[in-house]
Amino acid sequence: MTRVVVIGAGAAGLSCGLSLLDAYRARGGTIQQSGSAAMATDGSAHGVSLCVLEARDQIGGRVFSERHGSFVVETGAATVQETAPGLRELFERLQLQDEQVYSDDRAKRRYVYRAGRLRRLPMKPPEILSSDALSIPARARLLAEPLVPPRAHTLTDESVQSFFERRLGRRVTNEIVEPALAGIYAGDIAELSMPSALPRLWQMEREHGSLLKALRHSQATNKGTPTAPRLCGLRGGLGRLMQAMGRAIDSQGGRVRPLSAVRSIRVADPGSGRYCMELAETSLVADELILAVPPPEAARLLADLDPQLSTVYRSIGMAPIVAISLGWPREQVPHPLDGFGFLVPRIERMRDGLRLLGALFMTSALPDFEQAPKGQVVIRAMYGGAHDPEVERMADGELLEQVQRDLRTTLGIWNEPRFIHIQRWPQAIEQYRLGHAARVAEIEVRLRALGHLHATGAALYGVSVPDVLRNGRELGQRIADALPLS
Ligand SMILES: Cc1cc2nc3c(=O)[nH]c(=O)nc-3n(C[C@H](O)[C@H](O)[C@H](O)COP(=O)(O)OP(=O)(O)OC[C@H]3O[C@@H](n4cnc5c(N)ncnc54)[C@H](O)[C@@H]3O)c2cc1C
Repeated sequence: MTRVVVIGAGAAGLSCGLSLLDAYRARGGTIQQSGSAAMATDGSAHGVSLCVLEARDQIGGRVFSERHGSFVVETGAATVQETAPGLRELFERLQLQDEQVYSDDRAKRRYVYRAGRLRRLPMKPPEILSSDALSIPARARLLAEPLVPPRAHTLTDESVQSFFERRLGRRVTNEIVEPALAGIYAGDIAELSMPSALPRLWQMEREHGSLLKALRHSQATNKGTPTAPRLCGLRGGLGRLMQAMGRAIDSQGGRVRPLSAVRSIRVADPGSGRYCMELAETSLVADELILAVPPPEAARLLADLDPQLSTVYRSIGMAPIVAISLGWPREQVPHPLDGFGFLVPRIERMRDGLRLLGALFMTSALPDFEQAPKGQVVIRAMYGGAHDPEVERMADGELLEQVQRDLRTTLGIWNEPRFIHIQRWPQAIEQYRLGHAARVAEIEVRLRALGHLHATGAALYGVSVPDVLRNGRELGQRIADALPLS
């Protein structure tokens, strides 16, 4: 029997474990109950056993939903793109398709804070001219983008800042690109790598020579279909997707074990290709071991096995985020909240003394989510990021004063919130800095040399939940395809 162990029950680890079991079963393989007597023997039983080890008392990692009375809080990820590859199949596999909730047209509308108030971002190129979300010189420069020649194809890496300053100019970069990137990576655009952080836009320049030309081309070829895909979540919270994956693993004979932090990994016996893991009160042996933990933890676990691999993982930094969910009766929020939310550019934060990166209008983004009592709204304010890591260490009281001050300035809310939830993520988002592709390539090479040790997770091929699910799924299927059936 092949004993497979996954370390980390976040989106990546759960997706990898579930796909591995599904793919192995589809090949006609037998799943042995993990943790049973068969698990302890080595080779007497056929098939595969699977155990997913999770350090915390709950599974899901950065996709987790908490109920507080009549409010549901998304502590991490809240929405995914409906059309992301493999997502529909996953919801169907877990029989969650009737529980999906979608954004409506309002969520396409986004705001940016500029010169003292929120302004609507242009949705289509023709709206750029009339939109006051950008200063007049920025609008003019944006429209001139197709005239900027593309950079040589031989260039393999470039910072996000350099790419956009070259294509769109410094003003547009400061007014739109910087806050948008803070919304995804909470990162520093001077450090983020364009081909790794925004591969589609990087490719657009290569294929069409210009971003606006690429946009026009895609609008012409997709005539009649909506350009921006809908966002979706789950009634009761996206965390239910993680719970359902955990249950599906258990019901197939695998085992998901919360409160099972792996302390260390070593080679079980030289030449065997097996790995041994130390947990608090026990140890486990794996014939195939999958690391599905964030980079700092991967670096720690790999320090003795392969110091160089550990160093590469350590060099993938993480930015912190503090997400504060606040609830009010609808009438106490003067803004119409007719959009997905708003962003605050760094230049505006510095000018007006704000610390807020941006805020999501949660109850507008997914109107059928039912995350607040009727007649109340929830806004999720985001703080921290690469430029303001100190926020993570601020006391709750200080944070509340800050968020109330910032929302008074941006949304005109003067009332005390009826509901408050503060979520701190000291290690929130992986930073795909310059050289990221080379780092990932080195990780792949070194893992191959280690044999039956694999890795997945947001450190590698995209930080969005669908990217992480896809990467986990592909790895699980690849391992299952290579496993012996008897
Ligand atoms: C505030 C916030 C908002 C976000 N919003 C969105 C969004 O709206 N849409 C979107 O697509 N993405 C969003 N993301 C990004 C997305 O949530 C993450 O990139 C993704 O969930 C990461 O999944 P993962 O499995 O790689 O890592 P994780 O979710 O971190 O899972 C790793 C797991 O490993 C466990 N672990 C660590 N060490 C050990 C150990 N030694 N032994 C056992 N277990 C261990 C951890 O406890 C954790 O459960 C958001 C992230 C944050 C923080």
